[in-house]
Order: sequence, then C-alpha cells, then structure tokens
Amino acid sequence: MTVNNKPIQFIDLSLQQHRILPKLQKRIAGVLSHGQYIMGPEVYELEERLCEFNKVKHTISCANGTDALLMVLMAYGIGPGDAIFTTAFSFMATAEVIALLGATPVFVDIDPDTYNIDPPGLEKAIQAVLHNDESVCPFLKSKDNLKPRGIIPVDIFGLPADYEKITGLGKKYDLFVLADGAQSFGAEYKETKACNQGDAAATSFFPAKPLGCYGDGGAIFTNNDALAEKLLSIRVHGKGKEKYDNVRIGINGRLDTLQAAILLAKLEIFPEELQNRNRIAKLYTKLLKDHVEIQAIPDDRTSAWAQYSVKKENKQIIQTRLKNNGIPTAVYYPRPLHLQQAFAYLGHRPGSLPVSENLSKDIFSLPMHPYLTDDQVHHITDVVVNGG
Ligand SMILES: *Cc1c(COP(=O)(O)O)cnc(C)c1O
Repeated sequence: MTVNNKPIQFIDLSLQQHRILPKLQKRIAGVLSHGQYIMGPEVYELEERLCEFNKVKHTISCANGTDALLMVLMAYGIGPGDAIFTTAFSFMATAEVIALLGATPVFVDIDPDTYNIDPPGLEKAIQAVLHNDESVCPFLKSKDNLKPRGIIPVDIFGLPADYEKITGLGKKYDLFVLADGAQSFGAEYKETKACNQGDAAATSFFPAKPLGCYGDGGAIFTNNDALAEKLLSIRVHGKGKEKYDNVRIGINGRLDTLQAAILLAKLEIFPEELQNRNRIAKLYTKLLKDHVEIQAIPDDRTSAWAQYSVKKENKQIIQTRLKNNGIPTAVYYPRPLHLQQAFAYLGHRPGSLPVSENLSKDIFSLPMHPYLTDDQVHHITDVVVNGG
C-alpha cells in the first residue's frame, strides 16, 4: 500500500538526491576538472565546515567510521594487555577495532531506557578488571592483569550517551573516552554537539547514516592538538614530515575527494533535514507511546534519529503486519556483541548482559528519513496500532 502513490522506503536517498542534484553535479564536476582525487581541496574544505558545524578544533576526515575508531585507538597506542570498555549493544565495528589491535573489549550492559552504555555498569566493569574479578568478566580467568585504558560509548540510534558520567569515570580511572558518534552526527548533548564529546569522537558517512556520502566515509573530531597531529600521520601510513618519511605504523585511511565533494553539497541542507527528522520522530512518539516502548530521550540531549526504534514483545506480529502493508522494518541489532561468535573467546554466556539481550529480542526500527510525510507517519503508526 502507498500514500500519495509513493511507496514508503526504510531510508529514501533518492528524494534528497532529486532535491540537490544540480549542487551535487556541480561539486562532482569540480573534482573531475581539477583531478585531485586524493586529498583534493574539497577534503580540506569539508574538514573546515565540519569543525564549524561541531564547534570543534580539529576534524580529521577518513575512509569510513571503522577506520575513524581504529585510528584513535592506534594514536593511543592500544594493543595486547589493554582493556577497552564498550557497550554490548552496538554494531560490530565498535568492538572489532579493539580486538583488531590485540586489546580486549570489555562489554558493559546498557541502560534499559536510553539503550546506551550504563554508567554504574561501566564502573563495575572497570573495578572488575582492576581486581581480576571473573564473576563480572569471564575472560579474566585467562587474561590476568589487563590494563584499563579507554572507554568507547556509542550514541545508539543517534542519541548521545551519558557523557558527563562517562567522562567523570574516565577522569577518575585515567581512561580516555572515544565517542562512537557513527549514528549521532548532528545530535546535541547539553548544548554541545554529540561529535564533540570525550577526548575524540568518531563518525561515519556511510550512505544510510544521518549525514551520508555515496560510498564509504568517516571523520574524527578532537580538541586535542597532539592527538590530531598523530591522527594526520596515521591516516597516511604513519608519515612524518615528508611523504616517504614514516615515523609510526599507520594505514591508508583517507577520505576520497569525490566523497568530500558530495558531503559538502549534502551538508548545506543537513540542518533542515535534522529538523525534519525531529519532527517525524516527535510525531511517531506521540502516536506510538501508549502502544510500544520507545527510546527515552533525556531532556539534556537531542537525537540525530539515525533510526526510530521501538520495543515490543512478539515484535514479529507487528513487523509482519507492516510488511503486508508494504512498510519495511529492520532490526538493529538482532544479537548483542558479547554473544557474537567472533567474541566467543571472551566466554560470555546468554544471561551475562541481560538488558542488551532483551533489547535485541524485542527491538525493531521503523522507516526514518527526512522526507517522510506526516501522512506516511500516520499510515505507518495506524498499521502498528490498529493493523491498518
Ligand atoms: C556504522 C557504524 C560504524 C562503522 O561505520 P562505517 O563507516 O560503516 O565503517 C561504527 N559504529 C557504529 C555504532 C555504527 O553504526
């Protein structure tokens, strides 16, 4: 079924493209004409715009959100014997980068209302690592004397984590805070941007994220000059003063000039798109709050609404009903990270992080993009509530 003859898409990128096509074409043509496909002027222009947008001192654009996380961990010299604390309820990339460097991800359960890392649970996990308490962290049996080094909170579905409490714990235990803002570009926490939290924040410009390019892209934001300098080096194979002078191990982590050009065109309309996402989310909430559980948005922050997710027991009944009405849904995430096969070596069993496990069972996401009409939202919620 359609409203206004337009099928409802889970994320619709074509309406946006249609709207800004001349701008996109002009930007792309600019790159084709100067031909600097790697580190062309658009990359630096974008970094400047993103610094202004987030009111942050340094933006280091990079190849994708996963590299953004990885590069920060590399800059902190993370490796075997280090413990990095993160949420069990996230996308694989958040924890993968920790393991990739040989460090140990320590999964922490989430707050049942915001779905973000639970600060009391975080402190408990830090204490457990400090005291080799394997009742909290089963892997401590085989890995004695892990050194707590950092925390990676995730702004799940676009909602900033509880940064005041998290950075407080960071200071107390001398841990850096790397904000995974892959879903929260544009969100706000106590009047500052989500991507300007902690010691550094990482974001992704994957096409389906709130600000997406037409391929892979990402960025790191920080106010720390020394960290920014290291990141610039790591982005290009650990370069020193000159191109073939390599002072550390790095990666090829650059953002393509073409993707920067596309992001520059999209950034112009992004603030308005963010307003639309908020309008749509508000309407969803108004129409659904008595029928399904919705993510709690504390008063001191806003969401970038990467996803509008709801929680309901036996969700498959509603998902099937929506599907039969031509309305797509998705599940982020069907399995928490601590129960992924890739992390079986950590020895977690079902039941060890129950809030994340329950959420994975009952969560699903409704269509969300800035071009959904109020009529479409009414139609979707009518199917959720009344069966259509
Ligand atoms: C998308 C995402 C990433 C990874 O970003 P890529 O650009 O796909 O590498 C990391 N963390 C979270 C929470 C994400 O949603």
